[in-house]
Amino acid sequence: MQWRPEDTEPVVCCVCGLQGTPRWELDPFGIVQCERCGLVFVSPRLRPDALGRLYGDPAYHGGMYDGSRGAMALQRTWMAGRLDVARRALGRDVAGARLLEIGAGRGMFLAAAREQGFDVIGVELSEDAAAHARSTYGVTVHSTQLEDAPLDGRFDVVCAWDTVEHVPDPVDFWRTVASLLAPGGVVLFSTPYFSSLPARLLRTRWWTLKPAEHIWQFTPRTHRTVAAAGGLQVTRVVRSPLRRANFARLDSLVGVARAA
Ligand SMILES: [Zn+2]
Repeated sequence: MQWRPEDTEPVVCCVCGLQGTPRWELDPFGIVQCERCGLVFVSPRLRPDALGRLYGDPAYHGGMYDGSRGAMALQRTWMAGRLDVARRALGRDVAGARLLEIGAGRGMFLAAAREQGFDVIGVELSEDAAAHARSTYGVTVHSTQLEDAPLDGRFDVVCAWDTVEHVPDPVDFWRTVASLLAPGGVVLFSTPYFSSLPARLLRTRWWTLKPAEHIWQFTPRTHRTVAAAGGLQVTRVVRSPLRRANFARLDSLVGVARAA
């Protein structure tokens, strides 16, 4: 899609409420940095109605899905590695532990988690993807915003893979996630990160910059700041592209957080 200045609006740092200092201009977007907490974000960024058009476009979700053998093998490696991280973080037998995935997509991760003994449920904005998850794997996936999903009780594990960089307000997002955690519960997430080698070398040509959709650009440090503002403490970060949970991802990390 082609975006015009009318599709955008300025926003402030979700932690400090301050406007950022411009770093790059990517017409009609700007990449800015908060002088107080160091968080990098997109401002101006797409207005809510334009974001609705972007994510409502079936081509967006279609373009995200790569069912090739290589992509599926990579997905399976990540899923196995991430379930391992979840098991260790939980520190107990997973049988019957409740797992919620926010942004469950086509349900592959939920199905893998269920196989390990988790009691799973998902939330996914794309009705197409949620319907696929339900019909292919028989998992419960609500096709709504997280706040509107009919979720009973609390969860031992909440997963958000490549999600927090898309949400309108990450502090609000983490606050909602924190409110869903059972005592001793853990949050697992992944995101691209702005201090990664590809991001630093390639700057505006970094393939994951995507300013229309990746509206917050974190580093391990700013993740801690934003999560803390939302009531969570980041307790582990996996950056190595050699670890299964983050395999071959040179510019992304996997994090673990708990109620602060
Ligand atoms: Zn700030």
